Amino acid sequence: MFLLHAPKLFDYAALMKRIAIIGGGISGLSAAYVLEQHRRAGVPLQYVLYESSPRLGGVLRTEHVEGCLVEAGPDSFLTEKPWASDLCRELGIGDQLIGSNDAERKTYILIRGRLVPMPDGLLFMVPIKILPSAFSQLFSFSTKLRIIGEWFHPPRNSDSDESVAALVQRHYGSEMVERVADPLLAGVYGGDASQLSVRAVLPRLREMESEYGSLGRGMLRAFRKPRKEKKQPIFTSMKNGMQQISDAIVGRLPGTSIRLSDPAVTVRYNDKAWSVAAGGAEQKFDSAIIALHAPTAGKLLRGAHNELASELGAISYSSSVIVALAFDEKVRAALPPGFGFLVPRSEGERILAVTFVHNKFSYRSPDNRALLRCFLGGSRDEQAIELSEEEIVRVVRQELRQILYLTADPLFTRVYKWKNAMAQYNVGHLERLEKIEQLRRNLPGLALCGNAYRGIGVPDCVRSGKEAAESVMSFLGLPIPPLITN
Ligand SMILES: Cc1cc2nc3c(=O)[nH]c(=O)nc-3n(C[C@H](O)[C@H](O)[C@H](O)COP(=O)(O)OP(=O)(O)OC[C@H]3O[C@@H](n4cnc5c(N)ncnc54)[C@H](O)[C@@H]3O)c2cc1C
Repeated sequence: MFLLHAPKLFDYAALMKRIAIIGGGISGLSAAYVLEQHRRAGVPLQYVLYESSPRLGGVLRTEHVEGCLVEAGPDSFLTEKPWASDLCRELGIGDQLIGSNDAERKTYILIRGRLVPMPDGLLFMVPIKILPSAFSQLFSFSTKLRIIGEWFHPPRNSDSDESVAALVQRHYGSEMVERVADPLLAGVYGGDASQLSVRAVLPRLREMESEYGSLGRGMLRAFRKPRKEKKQPIFTSMKNGMQQISDAIVGRLPGTSIRLSDPAVTVRYNDKAWSVAAGGAEQKFDSAIIALHAPTAGKLLRGAHNELASELGAISYSSSVIVALAFDEKVRAALPPGFGFLVPRSEGERILAVTFVHNKFSYRSPDNRALLRCFLGGSRDEQAIELSEEEIVRVVRQELRQILYLTADPLFTRVYKWKNAMAQYNVGHLERLEKIEQLRRNLPGLALCGNAYRGIGVPDCVRSGKEAAESVMSFLGLPIPPLITN
């Protein structure tokens, strides 16, 4: 009786904040993970995660085919970016992290139909050892002279953006762009070196140019800095595939917070409240996190803020096609050692890059199998995604026959198409992000995350999702206590 008449000291329901998350790729899942951890710790919040497809994880997708582990999307991430590995440790799957087999690391570039190894000491597109580049068949005599001369490049400061190709051309000439920079960026970003912004994609090269002049000397300094930790593998992956990360997050989320096959159609902001329309119904929220391809985010926000919607719509994307092919032990024995090869556009092939998966990582194929992963598409070949799967396999096999003399029939093939999945940070990207951020401030409680903004790789997406969750919690005045994780 006394309790019934006691004054309400703490109105939990009134304090409860509702947050919508739109998009269930690794970015949206990372946001959901943070909110879930805080909810479990007693922070008064609820969230709903909308995902248009019937599964979570977005492009993180792993398949097990005839004893091989096939990655449909990303196959690994850069070890030096800690956010994905940290998340795995928080999720209790740190023991599943595996490093690339760097002792086997050797990458080739296809030059006039032949695989030429990238010389030792070529870090990304910067030679830090002169001799291996001087003796390499990758470069002509004039490029070799440029590599030596680059050591004396004067420092240069500039605030304006430019393409990666422009910077590399200034230091090493056009051959370095055609044979190294462009194929690397096509393989990593599905991008084009003459379009991608150096400030957004390779800011460290810009800093080195302004501090040291020579990129070679700058890179050497960075590389020689004393490192306390033991040498890390370049790439990290998961023993059981990249989907392990998204599965581990999904395993933590209550089913009641997730709406699968339920695409958000509009996101509106009225009277300091957000409403999300999906599946013929509308729900109200105090905050919204949009973790989507930027033009799709723009479409959803068109009614809420047209100018923001247009800026988001202006971020361009390329599409990717991944083809996995498995072969028997004879093929494995005949293939070159190393991680794989890149194809400059001047070679006129549709394949952009090939990974020898069986060499790059353990736990990917039995010892008597070769597993190849081929990339097609990108901004160089947007039509590739329109081809039928049969045609894609035909093209890939024909090109592998020419390049690797690989005539054997594959034991299996898989084709994965990812339409508009790779954001392109073109020249001016950072200026556009500043504008987007200014416009976003007109919509309090909105957070944007995903690969469209400040990093396309899985670790960057994890970071962006976590930051988005923390930013809406802080906007809503929710406490953000430190979390105890296992
Ligand atoms: C082929 C490929 C290879 C890659 N390789 C690597 C690699 O090796 N290493 C690396 O670090 N990175 C790699 N990346 C990049 C990285 O994987 C991606 O940038 C990252 O996974 C994107 O995550 P995301 O959550 O931002 O987007 P996505 O994974 O695209 O997720 C977005 C989600 O939103 C959903 N959605 C769309 N519209 C709606 C709507 N209206 N309502 C609700 N939901 C919606 C989609 O179904 C999807 O699930 C690769 C990418 C691709 C495509």
